[in-house]
Amino acid sequence: MRRVRVGITGVLRQWEGGERSGVNAAYVRSVLQAGGIPMIIPSLLDPALADDAIDAFDALLLTGGEDVDPDYYHAVRSPRLGTVSPERDRIELALFEAARRRGLPVLGICRGIQLLNVALGGTLWQDLPSERPGAVIHLPEVERHRRTHAVRLVDESRVARALGTTHAEVNSIHHQAIRDLGAGLVASAWAEDGIVEAVETTDGPWLLGVQWHPEEFVADPDAPDVGLFRALVDAAEAAEVGR
Ligand code: MN
Repeated sequence: MRRVRVGITGVLRQWEGGERSGVNAAYVRSVLQAGGIPMIIPSLLDPALADDAIDAFDALLLTGGEDVDPDYYHAVRSPRLGTVSPERDRIELALFEAARRRGLPVLGICRGIQLLNVALGGTLWQDLPSERPGAVIHLPEVERHRRTHAVRLVDESRVARALGTTHAEVNSIHHQAIRDLGAGLVASAWAEDGIVEAVETTDGPWLLGVQWHPEEFVADPDAPDVGLFRALVDAAEAAEVGR
């Protein structure tokens, strides 16, 4: 069987005096480690070409980054809303719709879980510290790979099977989170304050979203988090066989 091609949504950044189109290498390394072929999808792509682009992939990885524009979930903009990216919102929503139409497996990470939730009609907390103050700090000032809070996973869920556990410690680099679930999604992990940390589908094409950043553990061969990328590649291989 040929290796599965994983489309990874890219970002635009000003970096060292130039405008760069790319993505954190940790996502690329994680897909490589899982046996897939990583292919970065630039956010400059015209959303009208999303279907044509998706034809080149066997799976879609929605990456972390900017806040989703609250217009997409019909909410009044919080003054604590972070940076938004109109071009990323447009292309990623179009890519997600195209991937679902074609039955491609989708893994959403951080912004990615939020984006897929909004795409399916869900809503977001725009700023956890002001809207859901509590004991769990979801954006601690520590290194990206530091595990800072616990999550409880639903036994036998997709995310629990991928990690091989129902209790995990995760890194946490987010100030937004899912508020109301999108259509067809079930929550499959929560932090101790009740914030949703993973969602998935129980039927239809394979879909999984996590609020933490599993890609940051790619260098740790013992990290259960690498199982999430393996699960995405496995789902793509299974879908390929089924086509
Ligand atoms: Mn968190």
